[in-house]
Amino acid sequence: MINAFTVDLEDWFQGLTSTNTLVDKWPSLESRVVLATKALLDILRSFEVQVTFFVLGYVADQYPALVEQIKADGHEIGVHGYYHRFVSRLTPDEFAQELERSIKAVERITGEMPLGHRAPYFSINAGMPWVFDLLQANGFRYDSSFFPTRNMLYGFPDAPRFPHWLNGHSLMEFPLSTLRLGGINLPIAGGFYLRTFPYAFIRWGISQLNRRGQPAIMYVHPWELDLGQRYKRVTFRERITHYHGRQRMQHKLHCLFTDFHFGPLRSLLKPGHSQDSPPVSRTES
Ligand SMILES: [Zn+2]
Repeated sequence: MINAFTVDLEDWFQGLTSTNTLVDKWPSLESRVVLATKALLDILRSFEVQVTFFVLGYVADQYPALVEQIKADGHEIGVHGYYHRFVSRLTPDEFAQELERSIKAVERITGEMPLGHRAPYFSINAGMPWVFDLLQANGFRYDSSFFPTRNMLYGFPDAPRFPHWLNGHSLMEFPLSTLRLGGINLPIAGGFYLRTFPYAFIRWGISQLNRRGQPAIMYVHPWELDLGQRYKRVTFRERITHYHGRQRMQHKLHCLFTDFHFGPLRSLLKPGHSQDSPPVSRTES
């Protein structure tokens, strides 16, 4: 069973909501994305794992050599918006501009059209068909933004938990992994949850998914491995969501890559879909 491992490539201040909107101030904040991503690339190389990097367009424009290195290492390059904005707060026109700018930023470096998209903050859901119209019109083959859970920032708790074709579109959706326990979806896919839950629980959760014939779809941010960074003016919530459990992250990645097979999301794409095809998998437990 091949599981998918993904990286949302962004700097620490682009993901923090307290600094995300201060684009004019970004150049004055300490950029750590190159250093942190190189450490992650070293780990991936040592396990000979190829994954998907969803690259923020802004980062691609600032650090093209980093994106070149990611591609040279054999990883898939998808897009993650340009300024890391909540898609749910954009108009269709604004989203179209963000998307076009992010595509151009990575295409300029890789020479290839990206197949995959991940919305910043997992901020899209099935009730936003215009997003999928635009993704399809721009040649994307899949999206991986549904997170079937709910927290303070994001979530789409009613989303199908497993990969499926998006209604009326030739696009697959790869929701981030959750485990259904006692009628509740527990996120095990990455980020805060991967940092916080004991590894034994994550391992058990992935085994449960695989036993049902479903791949795990995991994610990490480079800043989650960067122990040297601490921005002092974070809010209390950000101190928890961004910084808690970073010390154990590297060890957990080693365990994951030892215990399971991972590949890029494109390796999970199913061929030969037309808009009339039935959904592949919408089964809920
Ligand atoms: Zn992000």
